[in-house]
Amino acid sequence: MKGTVLLLFLFMTSILNAQSDSNVVLVIHGGAGTILKKNMTPEKEKAYKAKLEEALNAGYEVLKNNGSSVDAVQAAINIMEDSPLFNAGKGAVYTNKETQEMDASIMRGNDKNAGAVAGVQTIKNPINAARAVMEKSEHVLLTADGAEEFAAKCELEIVDTSYFRSDVRLRQLKRVQEKEKTVLDHDGDQGEVDSSEDEFNIDYIEDKKFGTVGAVALDQNGDLAAGTSTGGMTNKRYNRIGDSPIIGAGTYADNQTCGVSCTGHGEYFIRNVVAYDVSAIMNYKGVSLDTAANEVIDKQTEFGGTGGLIALDKDGNVAMPFNTAGMYRGYVKKDGSIYIGIYGEE
Ligand code: ASP
Repeated sequence: MKGTVLLLFLFMTSILNAQSDSNVVLVIHGGAGTILKKNMTPEKEKAYKAKLEEALNAGYEVLKNNGSSVDAVQAAINIMEDSPLFNAGKGAVYTNKETQEMDASIMRGNDKNAGAVAGVQTIKNPINAARAVMEKSEHVLLTADGAEEFAAKCELEIVDTSYFRSDVRLRQLKRVQEKEKTVLDHDGDQGEVDSSEDEFNIDYIEDKKFGTVGAVALDQNGDLAAGTSTGGMTNKRYNRIGDSPIIGAGTYADNQTCGVSCTGHGEYFIRNVVAYDVSAIMNYKGVSLDTAANEVIDKQTEFGGTGGLIALDKDGNVAMPFNTAGMYRGYVKKDGSIYIGIYGEE
């Protein structure tokens, strides 16, 4: 009897150890910007937190079941792409011509393979198309019609452009156009608005945020992957493409250093090759992820580029610096504990 109890005890301990020994980590963001508690209603805060948690759970479930970091990144991003709360997929912002043009990229750290799409209008989940480019083509970045043709060939879900239409986003465009500016989803003065009309209760202070979404994951094999998906900037013109689909600028992953996904004013992130810079600083200077990530965001601040990034290194360390008032963000650690933050200093 005693022997049986001891065996049972050992068995339970080994299960608990196996669970707490899981080496997997997932970190996500849903955009940075002027996100202030005073402008947030409790319902809206709850909605954002619930969606971030859902995305974290979806990705973590994959990792826990021995799925790859690429699968986890995709699973987490798909949840946010399907939500109107974020500027990606379903919630994509409008261009100057009242179209919705989305960009996405994904990179895996074990072989530094990468894929991206830009300016796509009919792919339900642009991150899936970015992954298909990485895995099923010899290219890295496909754009517009060609990317859509390729996605259809890969049997990804293609939708009518009406799937992305949103009165909330259209009104946002009109306000921006009145000011004749190009504005990041959650940034810039987009004028007075009656937020009671807003079916998702996304009040227009929300315009002061960068609603791009991203995820970085570390799987059981020790492989990192990073992905980013966005609708870009409200009122963008001339087929403008931001940093999100640019490998090295908006997304980067290298098993030797870290995985990174950015959100912010794309033009600044492209010019400072922000995502790669975090990896390069770690590599060349031999500093920690936290030091490198903060150095890069400090440089962005000096340069005038607002935004933030999430980063995860091969040991599971997480960094989430931003130079805006807030950033929707969260992670699941090796022990399964979840953190979700919105504002600064949380
Ligand atoms: N970085 C994105 C872009 O410039 C915008 C964002 O992060 O919301 O297209």
